[in-house]
Amino acid sequence: MVLKFSISQKTAFDQLDKDFSSRQFAKVYLFHGPSRSGKLETALFFSKKIFCELSDPPCGNCLSCEKFDLGTHLDFFRISLYDEKKKGRIETIRQEILPRVYQKANQGTCKVFVFDAAENMTLSSFNALLKVIEEPPPNTFFIFITSNLYSIPITFFSRCRKVRFHPLSRDMIKKRLSENYKGKEEDVDKLVSLNFTDIESISADQIEVAEKCREQSLNFLKESMRSSEQVDPIKLMNFTTVKFDNSKTQRDNAISFLISIRSLLRDVLVLQLSSEDLLWNIDIEEDLREISTNWNEAKLADAFLILEKSIKGLQDLNTNSTLTLESLVHSIRSFLVER
Ligand SMILES: [Zn+2]
Repeated sequence: MVLKFSISQKTAFDQLDKDFSSRQFAKVYLFHGPSRSGKLETALFFSKKIFCELSDPPCGNCLSCEKFDLGTHLDFFRISLYDEKKKGRIETIRQEILPRVYQKANQGTCKVFVFDAAENMTLSSFNALLKVIEEPPPNTFFIFITSNLYSIPITFFSRCRKVRFHPLSRDMIKKRLSENYKGKEEDVDKLVSLNFTDIESISADQIEVAEKCREQSLNFLKESMRSSEQVDPIKLMNFTTVKFDNSKTQRDNAISFLISIRSLLRDVLVLQLSSEDLLWNIDIEEDLREISTNWNEAKLADAFLILEKSIKGLQDLNTNSTLTLESLVHSIRSFLVER
């Protein structure tokens, strides 16, 4: 049994297959690469392989494979750190994860823990797991997944076996999303553009919020480009108190706003590298081309760094969201206009 898209991530699959077949499968892996490059699917596939009881794993027919597919395997733990940043906090790791790590396997001989979006863990959570990954209990495997390698502390990073994933083309992302999406076919394009990863349970409200957020980010980038004479300072400062999702706090809105700006700048970089097949926001390509005339590689690198720092600050350090956005507005303006 093979995974359909494994051919697009041949290097990663070759490395993992080799580790698995030579019984050199590491206790702790770090899967890294851009978002939506199939890291989670690969982690699930290899977890299923580890549990499978038959000779050509994953067979898809044995009791373990069946339970795995139904999501009822008692020795498999998927810790998703996407939305609820609380889950990445130290209390959760101490109270919910660590005790399970040291428990005996329930139904098989081993346990697997997959931490998705590990970059959202706090520093204390990483430290709490450090001892565990240094000396994992027997037959216990960990796969950490991240699309932001630089958020993983070096002490942690150095203890994992790394597997790198490459960006997938827009067509490939679309194909994969279509397989799991139960809504209208024409919506899939929109979902690819809005950078959704998990779309099985997506609601119309969530799509609307994501669209509003992207619109604000786009407007922000356009407004930031204006020369000192043309810019409207009030309009620009309005971006420091963004609110497009009323059900969330100012801080959460600010985080989504920053992530959305990052995704647009990612596409600006894609356009500059002339790799159009990797473009996510294809429906606003014209706007992005216009924006891209104001950026070069050095400015983009600086902006990515500031965005990362701001996101991390809001997530971990409780920095003030309005001040964070004010400082971002100022930095972006200084890259684009004042430099
Ligand atoms: Zn099986």
